[in-house]
Amino acid sequence: MADYGFSTLSVHAGAQPDPATGARATPIYQTTAYAFEDADHAAALFNLQVFGNIYTRIMNPTTAVLEERVAALENGRAGLACASGHAAQLLTFHTLMQPGAEIVAARQLYGGSVNQFSQGFAKFDWHTRWADTTDPDSFKRAITDKTKALYCESIANPGGIITDLEPLAKIAHDAGVPLIVDNTLASPYLIRPLEWGADIVIHSATKFLGGHGNSMAGVIVDGGTFDWGSGKFPTLSEPCPSYHGMKMWETFGDMAFAVATRVLGLRDLGPSLSPMNAFLVLTGTETLPLRMQKHCDNALVVARWLKANPKVAWVNYAGLEDNASYAMHQKYCPKGAGSVFTFGVKGGYEAGVKLVNSVRLFSHLANVGDTRSLIIHPASTTHRQLSDEGRIKAGAGPDVVRLSIGIEDSADIIADLVQALE
Ligand SMILES: *Cc1c(COP(=O)(O)O)cnc(C)c1O
Repeated sequence: MADYGFSTLSVHAGAQPDPATGARATPIYQTTAYAFEDADHAAALFNLQVFGNIYTRIMNPTTAVLEERVAALENGRAGLACASGHAAQLLTFHTLMQPGAEIVAARQLYGGSVNQFSQGFAKFDWHTRWADTTDPDSFKRAITDKTKALYCESIANPGGIITDLEPLAKIAHDAGVPLIVDNTLASPYLIRPLEWGADIVIHSATKFLGGHGNSMAGVIVDGGTFDWGSGKFPTLSEPCPSYHGMKMWETFGDMAFAVATRVLGLRDLGPSLSPMNAFLVLTGTETLPLRMQKHCDNALVVARWLKANPKVAWVNYAGLEDNASYAMHQKYCPKGAGSVFTFGVKGGYEAGVKLVNSVRLFSHLANVGDTRSLIIHPASTTHRQLSDEGRIKAGAGPDVVRLSIGIEDSADIIADLVQALE
């Protein structure tokens, strides 16, 4: 499989005709549990001596195809699918963190991730130090001896900033910690963070991988290259009491992180993906390259049009030549700068609210990465919980409008903005 091109992998990776029935599409294995061959087989499964299905909270054959597909698209070692992007983040840190440990994260993250890292994770006594995704040295300065990972988005939501991953990977590795990249907005069609030095990739597959705005899902991809033996990551290097003292890193090598996150994190925390949603996201991945290119092409046309519009104060899209992220766009994702970007409407908060109330083709909602064009005014919705200062730092000031450009005809998308801005 590894020799095939990206479009071929998008359609085929991980899948084959169903051995039992010949069904060509991957069946939805809508089952909770799997019959053991006999008591010895059951014992071997529970001891992790043989790998296989026990219970759908831990693995499922439909979900397994999705995991292999996304791992192939990201050129990683192993994948793990779960209930949502936030579940993917929770599971990842459950493997890496201990009480009192720290993450150094870009402050330019999806608003929900800022909440999760600063509020939800604090309940586990996990703490985040914030850095600036446009300034790699700010990550370096925030690292302490408690740091377990660096975290950023490849294309940052909602500012449309493209992160310079290469220096961040070096800073992480110099500190003996992995670089984890949320690749949701880029998708592996545009950027493959593992090839730039990242160690773990996170997806909200709810967005572009699924692509149709119909199912929640998350995927973690383990690059398989990080050395977990330093003692900083006891879950991976120390004897594991619930598997007879097995050491994950010693036993599973380059798949240790993916295996531990499944057999400890998914087992104990429980945010598993439903087989139905795995099927829907899997179907979405088949057209990922076609959709992403159309999303990006449309976004560039719309961004250029907005930039020339007198009612618009500014447009922040990395695909525009004068954008601060244009050089990073050329370096990391020359095929396109993604389809999610922000612009400032003249008239501030009031004008932003009026615009989202006036669109017809656009849907006013809190999502991105749908076939449909979407619009939101972050200050009054997704970034409401943050302080004024926090909102501005996260790229969500009062006049900011965020678009997720769909795959409709660009002329119709623009016509809707024309009438709504009137
Ligand atoms: C939506 C999103 C998430 C969270 O994913 P869910 O599937 O909604 O839990 C994380 N990161 C980014 C960049 C997102 O857009």
